[in-house]
Amino acid sequence: MAVPSLGGTDAEIEVQDLLASAWHRDGLEVTSWDIDPGALADEPDFPGMEVPRTAARGVTARWPGTGDGPTLLLLGHTDVVPPGDRAAWSGDPFHARRSGSRLIGRGTCDMKAGTAAMWFAVRALQSAGVRLRGDIVLAAVSGEEDGGLGTYDLVRRGLTADACIVPEPTDLDLVPANGGALTFRLRVRGRATHASRRTEGVSAIEKFTAVLERLRQLEHARNADVDALMERWDIPYPLSIGTVHAGDWASTVPDLLVAEGRLGVALDEPVDRARADLEEALALLAFDDPWFADHPVEVEWWGGQFAPGRTPPDHPALTLLSQVHADLSGARPACYGGPYGSDLRLLAGAGIPTVQFGPGDSRAAHAPDEWVDMDDIVACARTIAAYAVAFCGVD
Ligand SMILES: [Zn+2]
Repeated sequence: MAVPSLGGTDAEIEVQDLLASAWHRDGLEVTSWDIDPGALADEPDFPGMEVPRTAARGVTARWPGTGDGPTLLLLGHTDVVPPGDRAAWSGDPFHARRSGSRLIGRGTCDMKAGTAAMWFAVRALQSAGVRLRGDIVLAAVSGEEDGGLGTYDLVRRGLTADACIVPEPTDLDLVPANGGALTFRLRVRGRATHASRRTEGVSAIEKFTAVLERLRQLEHARNADVDALMERWDIPYPLSIGTVHAGDWASTVPDLLVAEGRLGVALDEPVDRARADLEEALALLAFDDPWFADHPVEVEWWGGQFAPGRTPPDHPALTLLSQVHADLSGARPACYGGPYGSDLRLLAGAGIPTVQFGPGDSRAAHAPDEWVDMDDIVACARTIAAYAVAFCGVD
């Protein structure tokens, strides 16, 4: 069954209901509830939302253990990003198809494969007759791609666990830390006039080139000295512009340019400091160009506001996962921080030791012909099942 669960669409709820029914059929204790995004958005620490959404659904499914063993949370987001240019796809993005061992389709890699892997780990244990001492809780969340409202809501409801695996695409490596990501909007002012007299106006587009240059310098400075967990990345904390809109007429010098982008936040860096860093860098433009003294670039922080987060790489829950996966696969997984924001920071921030460990290469996520290797889905499910036995204990 194909559910095009784009963030902000009704299908985002449909896929949550689909999992709730499936988990119910599997004999798990399912809890499903309505989320009011508008009410959550009023909270001061709300992590943001970039698509209009008037409703959302939360779903958890508990497989109770027999005793007082530790609780393992397995959490996957069910929302996906838009397909982008459909001509860049070799088929319908929302009808997954196989090509060799690859499964291709929007959301396969990020992260329906991982969500399937965590679910099938539980199924495998159930069908093998395993009785865990601790509980397993499966959680399906919405809105991860544009801020994390689903996990934010889950944490607010008081869900706790002794460890959590989020099977986001990590190529079966361990990712216990995430840099943050703050979405921003810039307004660069110009002065409109007829294009035939352009030197008497001020082009917001031309002013923006100075802004871009300054942002590149800032990105360079912010990536000069990074945490050892992030050293594998070319630019661990990218500062990127994603949209630019300017002008409203071909023969008019544009008086306004609006650009949107995302600022990477370093591990352990307070988000307020990262925001101030960007605002101060843009304020300095006034020293090079008096135009900016009279018309400072306006900065608005909106949408996803992902703080960085981490679980210490030597946490026992992580060491155990590394050992279990090494025993099954023959090689110890690499362990490093991810350069993107994710739900990990909300869970780690709530005191739940959390690691991302899942099938798929994150480069395939959000890309045309997004894919995941089905052998990796099975390998992930196998490791999660074995980990659950080792972590929760068995009778
Ligand atoms: Zn994801």
